[in-house]
Amino acid sequence: MQKRTMKRGKRPELMWGLGLSDTHKTDIEQGVGPGFHIRNFPTEDLPKAKDMAQEEKPSAAWIPWSVWADLPEFRKEEYRQQDSTQRILIQDENDQAVEMDRVLSEGFLTVVRSPLTRPKVQDAMFRAKEVTSMYSDIYRMTEEIMLERELLARKTDQLMFLNRILASATESLDPSTILMNAKETLSLILPIKMLHAVFWNHQQDSDVSDAEIFLNGKMTPEAESGWVEHLMASAASMGSGPVNGFQIIHVDPARRPEFGLKPEDGRLVTMPLSAGSETFGCLALLCEPGYRLGKDQVETFRSAVNHLGLALRNALMFKEVKLRADHDGLTRIYNRHSFEERLVYEIKRRRRYNHDLSLLMVDLDYFKNVNDTYGHKAGDMVLRKVGEILTETFRGTDLAARYGGEEFVVLLPHTSEQDAWKLAERVRESIQSSQFHFDGQDFTVTASIGVASVEAGALTKDDDLIIKADKALYKAKNNGRNMVVVSKPKADQVAMQ
Ligand code: GH3
Ligand code: MG
Ligand code: MG
Repeated sequence: MQKRTMKRGKRPELMWGLGLSDTHKTDIEQGVGPGFHIRNFPTEDLPKAKDMAQEEKPSAAWIPWSVWADLPEFRKEEYRQQDSTQRILIQDENDQAVEMDRVLSEGFLTVVRSPLTRPKVQDAMFRAKEVTSMYSDIYRMTEEIMLERELLARKTDQLMFLNRILASATESLDPSTILMNAKETLSLILPIKMLHAVFWNHQQDSDVSDAEIFLNGKMTPEAESGWVEHLMASAASMGSGPVNGFQIIHVDPARRPEFGLKPEDGRLVTMPLSAGSETFGCLALLCEPGYRLGKDQVETFRSAVNHLGLALRNALMFKEVKLRADHDGLTRIYNRHSFEERLVYEIKRRRRYNHDLSLLMVDLDYFKNVNDTYGHKAGDMVLRKVGEILTETFRGTDLAARYGGEEFVVLLPHTSEQDAWKLAERVRESIQSSQFHFDGQDFTVTASIGVASVEAGALTKDDDLIIKADKALYKAKNNGRNMVVVSKPKADQVAMQ
C-alpha cells in the first residue's frame, strides 16, 4: 500500500498537517528534512473521509490537541478509521497534559509537546514510519492470504464440478441418460448447444467396427446426416477402423429449437473418449462461437471428459454383458432365461389386472433333416431368419424368445386367444414362404405352432400355460405339421394346412 520506497528520490513524501500553525508547520518541515512535503489544511477546511479515500495517502498526519478537541466525534472516528496514516498529536506548552492512555485510545501513535524540536519531530516520524511499514507488511500478508483463498476457492469449484460430473455420470448405467446429464453439467463451464457421441466396438479378430451413434435430439434429415458424417470421420481418425454398420440412437427424442444446427453452426469441439490406452468413442460438442476457456478451465474440462469416458465405458460394457445374458447368441432374440423371468412377471400381473395372456410355442418341422441335408450352418441360418421373423412380427410389450434348439416361444400380454391365433398364422406363413439359399441349394422350412391362452376373468390356473401350449404343439405335429393349433379351439379357428 505504501509506495514510499518507489517515490523516494522522485518527489518528497507526503505528510498532512491538520490545522497547523505556521510555527508548527515550519518546525516539522525543518525537523524531517527535505525528503518530506507537508500539506497543511486550515482548521475550517479539514479533509473529510472521502478526501482521505481519494487522495494520495500521507504517511503521517500532525494535529494539534486544540484542533482535535474541537472536532465532532464522528469526524474523529473518520480519522481513526484511516489505518494507513499515523496520527501524531501536538500539545502546546500551555495545553493541559494529556495522559498517554488517552492519547492511544484516541487513536494517536504518539504525542509531541511543543516546542517541536528536531529530535522530537524525527523520533515521532521514525515511529510513524515503523508502524506504517508494519502495517504494509500485514497488508501484504493479508493480500497473499486472500489470493491463496481465492485459488483454493477456485480449486474447490473445480472439484465440486468434477464431483458433479462424476455423480451424474455414475447415477445411471444407460449411455443416453449419461450423455444427457453430461450436456447439462458440462454446460456449467462451456455453453453447449448440442452434444453428440459415437462409440465403436471392434469385431472379434478384425479391425472392422460396429458403431453406435448417439444424437442429441431429433433433427432435420440434413442436419442429422451432417452430424453422422462428422462423427464417422472423427471415429475413423481416432482409430475405429472401417465401420461395418452403425445404429443411430436419439438421446433426447424431443425436437428442440436447435434441431437444424449442423456441425458448422458454432464452434465444434471433438474430444476422444478413452479408457486406459484404448479410445472407444468421441464426443462432438457444438458450442457458442467466440467463447474462450481459461487454462485451468480447459484442464477441468479435460478431466471431466475423462471421468465421463470411464462412466460411459462402464455403461456400454454393462449393456453388452446384459445383452449377452438376456439374449441368445445365435438369433440375438431373448433367451429362455429372460422368457421365464418375464413369464413369472406377466402371470403375476395377469392375476392382479385380470387381462388376457397368450403364449405361442413354435417348433420347426423336420429340422433335423435340414441339418442332415444342407448342413448345420444352413440350419443356423434358418434359426436366425426365424428370429428375425419373430422380431418383425411382434413389437412392444410382446416377448419372443428362443426356448431351445429349434423351438421358440412368444409371450403376448393383453392378447386374446383369437388374436394370438391370427398372429401365429402370420408367423407360420412367413416361415413357410421364406426362401433359403445355401451352397447353391434352395429350400424352405415350415413350423408347427401351439397356442394357449388364459382369458380375462378366467379362474383357471394360469401357471400351466406352457404345458397347454406344448400339448397344442404336439397336436399340430401329430395332425401333419405346418399348422397352428389352439389348446381350446373355437369354431372359427380352423387349423390351417
Ligand atoms: P419335428 O418336426 O418333430 O420337430 O422334427 P425335428 O427334426 O425338427 O425334431 P427333432 O427334435 O428330432 O430335431 C431337432 C433338431 O434341431 C436336432 C438338432 O440338430 C437341431 N438343432 C437344435 N439346435 C440347433 C442349432 O442351434 N443349430 C442347428 N443348425 N440345428 C439345431
Ligand atoms: Mg422340430
Ligand atoms: Mg423340437
